[in-house]
Amino acid sequence: ALTIGVLAMQGAFREHEQMLQSLGCNVVQVRKPEQLDELDGLILPGGESTTIGKLMADFGLDAAILERAAQGMPLWGTCAGLILLAQRIERSEQKRLGLMDITAVRNAFGRQVDSFEIALDIAALNGIDALGALGADEALGDDKALGVGAFPAVFIRAPYIAEAGPDVQILARHEGKAVLARQGNLLAAAFHPELTKDDRMHRFFLKMVAEQA
Ligand code: GLN
Repeated sequence: ALTIGVLAMQGAFREHEQMLQSLGCNVVQVRKPEQLDELDGLILPGGESTTIGKLMADFGLDAAILERAAQGMPLWGTCAGLILLAQRIERSEQKRLGLMDITAVRNAFGRQVDSFEIALDIAALNGIDALGALGADEALGDDKALGVGAFPAVFIRAPYIAEAGPDVQILARHEGKAVLARQGNLLAAAFHPELTKDDRMHRFFLKMVAEQA
């Protein structure tokens, strides 16, 4: 089984942990640099990116994560995690890993719509097993036919990607704004796949990890 870390400074790390466990992974809540040695991949969860970035630096995790990322370990940032992966954050000097050649814009979908859910087309998920870890009854009983077709993307005070360098593949857009992107071993999602029952995004990341391992 793959061993996946979830950065557990602050934010929605337990939900990622549960989904990874349901997919058969060993999961480590990461709070110390030495925990990174045993990982095949790492998730940076949603939450408050300024707080997570500061704690990550205080715990010495930023340098350790950069070292593992340089060795090729896959990293996936969701929401605040996307912001932490970005090289550039519009109008912010906050601490970050700065690994991806993207410009993140925080709280980018306006104040009136703090949070919303949409059906997002993600062509990259087409090869991913349709029903995920759900029983067929549960999945097929749902109106939205969870696990097939568009992905139920939950946005909570979400960022978007305003600019991306030539090595970055944009994998999904909402209202023309890039909300899912990959650059080699790095994956960034503006939304929260761990808050839905659809595990295809987690399977997609685990495929990246398995290819690297
Ligand atoms: N708005 C938050 C930030 O900028 C991110 C929100 C989230 O992770 N749900 O840190």
